Amino acid sequence: MIFTLPPLPYATDALEPVMSRETIEYHYGKHLQTYIDNLNRLIAGTPYEEANLEEIILNADGPIFNNAAQAWNHTFFFNSLTPEHTEMPEKVRKAIERDFGSVETFKEKFQKAAVDLFGSGWAWLAKDKEGRLHILQEPNAGNPLKSGYKPLLTIDVWEHAYYIDYRNKRAVFAEKFWEIVNWNKVAERLECNCCCGGGKSKDVQKTEMSDEATADEDKDADEAKCR
Ligand code: MN
Repeated sequence: MIFTLPPLPYATDALEPVMSRETIEYHYGKHLQTYIDNLNRLIAGTPYEEANLEEIILNADGPIFNNAAQAWNHTFFFNSLTPEHTEMPEKVRKAIERDFGSVETFKEKFQKAAVDLFGSGWAWLAKDKEGRLHILQEPNAGNPLKSGYKPLLTIDVWEHAYYIDYRNKRAVFAEKFWEIVNWNKVAERLECNCCCGGGKSKDVQKTEMSDEATADEDKDADEAKCR
């Protein structure tokens, strides 16, 4: 499929002052667009031309994986944010308290994972197959789907994510990040039983399908909900 820039769910200046319009214009408008353009160019004439983004992430490596994962990670990241100050829904709070002790401890650990990650990458809140929550560090284009986790929230700590607004102060960015997290989106992802994070390859899934075309469409719609 030909991948296109996903819609930004708010105006480019809506996240100010935490994230400036200039940052969004570059980060969403240029960096994400470039990953998508690179991916379309790289998959042309390969079997990945027929695959969705999740299938490419689970099966590819090298430049195809890097650009597919960066397209997915950025879509997920921008969808995790909102200018409306959301409260953490009860289900999310309970899961966080169960697995980290308290919301404060979770936030401290998540920020530490973001700040301590050496070089470029992502810190994630993700759910394992038993439903337990984990904080994961992924360098470069890393994505928890690859190791069977379902992502719930992420912070991009590549320098392009914060350098315009915070210069070298990644820790300040990681602290301000909470002001724009869309907790309703995190709750939606926590409750969604879509197939993301199952670690299944395309071939495995296909053998389980009776009506391949319909199932493929359903699966694409289902997986897109995870982003
Ligand atoms: Mn980025």
